[in-house]
Amino acid sequence: MRFLSTRGQDIAKNASFAIAEGLASDGGLFVPEKFPDFSEKLKTMLDMDYAERAALVISSYLDEYDKDELLSACKKAYAKFEDEEPAPVVKIDDNLFILELFHGPTLAFKDVALTILPYLLRKGADQSGIREEILVLVATSGDTGKAALEGFKDADGIKICVFYPTGGVSDMQKRQMCTQEGGNVNVVGVKGNFDDCQTAVKKIFSDKRINAELKEKGIVLSSANSINFGRLVPQIAYYFSAYLDLVGSEEIKLGDKIDFVVPTGNFGNILAGYYAKKMGLPIGKLICASNQNNVLTEFFESGTYNKNREFFKTVSPSMDILVSSNLERLIFELTGRNAELTREKMESLSKKGEYDISKTELSAIQKEFSAGFTEEEECLEEIKEFFDDFGYVLDTHTAVAMNVYENLGDKNKPTVVLSTANFYKFPQSVLKAITGKNVQDAFKASEMLLKETAADIPSGISELKNKTVRFTETVEKDKVYDAVKRFIETER
Ligand SMILES: *Cc1c(COP(=O)(O)O)cnc(C)c1O
Repeated sequence: MRFLSTRGQDIAKNASFAIAEGLASDGGLFVPEKFPDFSEKLKTMLDMDYAERAALVISSYLDEYDKDELLSACKKAYAKFEDEEPAPVVKIDDNLFILELFHGPTLAFKDVALTILPYLLRKGADQSGIREEILVLVATSGDTGKAALEGFKDADGIKICVFYPTGGVSDMQKRQMCTQEGGNVNVVGVKGNFDDCQTAVKKIFSDKRINAELKEKGIVLSSANSINFGRLVPQIAYYFSAYLDLVGSEEIKLGDKIDFVVPTGNFGNILAGYYAKKMGLPIGKLICASNQNNVLTEFFESGTYNKNREFFKTVSPSMDILVSSNLERLIFELTGRNAELTREKMESLSKKGEYDISKTELSAIQKEFSAGFTEEEECLEEIKEFFDDFGYVLDTHTAVAMNVYENLGDKNKPTVVLSTANFYKFPQSVLKAITGKNVQDAFKASEMLLKETAADIPSGISELKNKTVRFTETVEKDKVYDAVKRFIETER
């Protein structure tokens, strides 16, 4: 299958090229030429395990990849999850379910894609005839960084450099990244917020001079962010899997529509749900949940996307984002795949910080999505109330989604709330929510939470205490490429 750029001036011959390159050369994002129709396949997928369902979804886009090899790569990737189950569905109440996506090696939903992406990228590069070393550049709001580092550590012919906003990630997230092992990894703090990191990295990708300079050194760039289609496609699978599990447990009948509530930042996770719907999965509404950085809520309500606003640091740092990159892919669909219009809007976003969609486009979008946001206090209250009511501990991101569900969700319709992280990644905030206590130290807060909730502290968290911090470098936001150069040079 070919992949088109959302900005119309690049085309990838197949998925291998789209994944190896990461971002289109015109600054746009690669989108599949068409969406495979799965409506007739749902029934046969009922008896499959997670890896089989994922391999089927992924190979429908990556048709030049060997099917058996892809399946064994999926099996290997998902064996890294607790109980080899990357996406269990937990019943909470009559029509309310939680899709737990945080049982992977780094305890956030990013693992679902980043345990398999190294295979997809290596293979894609080989199939595209890329002989150079691949340098994966990652901008992270906290969880992608660690999941990518873990996925790519010591991968053949690949190096990885992660940029995180100093002060914009939780203590645990930072510690997870800065203690990363492996000979091909680097982690750098950027004095700015996530948007600064993402902009800097995207600039490097589309800078022709930099790309030429790197090529001379035998290096090509790629991305592990959700701007890379290879990150997105494994995420489509868990929407199918959650739906099929509900059919399997007779909570719904095949063909019934269900809603999904997604805690959203860069719009990657929820876009995967939209793609699943395009493939024929019976989804009613996709509910986009934001924290106090509610640029998306406003967009879905008014049709104006405006990033010129105060940036808040919240208790759900992985959603502290004002420029949601993957919205570009939705705009592309919404405008009837009009690349010129999409490009105009994205240019307006980078020049003026805003763009509008038409009334018709807005009402089309509102048929598929609804959107809401949660204030800081409400988020913490949600954690407390949910724990009291159901004995279930939500992390700060999932709590945002749950709160939006309570305000906007249709309680008569089966609804799945996506849970994106283990709560021990944000122990101080969760402890404060449940006990009212302010504890500065992340490990102390974890110990106290353990007493309070009796939920095991994952080894990925407890072992951090004794690991050596390997990375301490921080740079100004306009010096990101200098850090890349230093990394390349010291490695040689
Ligand atoms: C990345 C992340 C999100 C946001 O997901 P997007 O795909 O960026 O919308 C939400 N919650 C957690 C815990 C995350 O790590």
